[in-house]
Amino acid sequence: MSERASIRAAVIGVGHLGRHHARLLSTLPGVTLSGIVDQNPERAKDIAAAHATSVIPEAGSLIGQVDAVVVATPTASHAQVAGPLLRAGVSVLVEKPMARSLAEADELIEAARAGHATLAVGHTERFNPAVAAARERLTAPRFIEVHRLGTFPDRSLDIDVVFDLMIHDLDVILSIVGSPVAAIDAVGVPVLTPKIDIANVRLRFENGCIANLTASRISRDRTRKIRFFQPDSYVSVDYAAQELEVWRLVRPVAGLPGIEGGLVPVQQEEPLKRELEDFIDAVRMRRPPSVTGEDGRRALALAEDVTRGMTTVR
Ligand code: NAD
Repeated sequence: MSERASIRAAVIGVGHLGRHHARLLSTLPGVTLSGIVDQNPERAKDIAAAHATSVIPEAGSLIGQVDAVVVATPTASHAQVAGPLLRAGVSVLVEKPMARSLAEADELIEAARAGHATLAVGHTERFNPAVAAARERLTAPRFIEVHRLGTFPDRSLDIDVVFDLMIHDLDVILSIVGSPVAAIDAVGVPVLTPKIDIANVRLRFENGCIANLTASRISRDRTRKIRFFQPDSYVSVDYAAQELEVWRLVRPVAGLPGIEGGLVPVQQEEPLKRELEDFIDAVRMRRPPSVTGEDGRRALALAEDVTRGMTTVR
């Protein structure tokens, strides 16, 4: 593939999220949206028509026809859908969580290696402009507080709230703290489904940093915030509003210390668009994407550790 050639892309699974991948891919420069696959034929037809592209009856037909595919089917089918494509040399951005199990995640990583294909995982918050701006100000977080509270969804109920929602923050924190997890203390409650609908987790890292995360899919209001406390500063991100606040400790020569700071301007942009731009550029330039298969596996492994040791309250 020449560096200038248009990347031929397709989307498999155009439900709640996949339709946004299709919309964005159809407008990215240097990309041709070559087809839509969905096991719901009506939905495939509607989305294909909206973006002047074709319905492809099944994923296998994409092999040899496209360079890059987004897999946005429910998690249970990620490995089965993405594996054969990767093995055949088609690059894949697979939605989070990358698979149902570490064994399946390993299969995807191995398939990408065998097919010399790019494998990226859709941990969208990494591409949130407020997170990117916060990252530049994070030197040594000692305590991290996360609230990701959502209303009850009519989808993603094949997985629990740790794999559905908290995994976003586990991935962000792992990419920032840079130290192994030393201890996990977790509690979860199944409320409206047989799976965990609300969970709280305290992570202690070997470097001493503590992260306290709450994720819920049964709340009345939506909140998505992550706050970092460092020895000399406090960094607060509202993921949903894409807002960043930074407060610094000021130590005068005499008298009590004070604080100064406030909102920091952030250039707002759709995180999903930035994620797709990164994926397409990685495919074109044959470089690793910003969130690799190994990163997706690492977040999945931590989500598994969190749920394995969890106290379940019924
Ligand atoms: P959804 O149920 O709304 O959509 C899934 C679509 O896939 C449906 O249209 C369905 O017909 C189709 N489908 C199912 N199995 C298929 C198969 N084998 N082949 C082809 N099509 C198939 O689900 P959703 O909420 O869009 O979630 C999809 C994935 O995206 C999940 O892995 C979810 O965790 C992830 N997700 C990520 C984010 C994020 O912020 N990155 C947000 C929401 C969902």
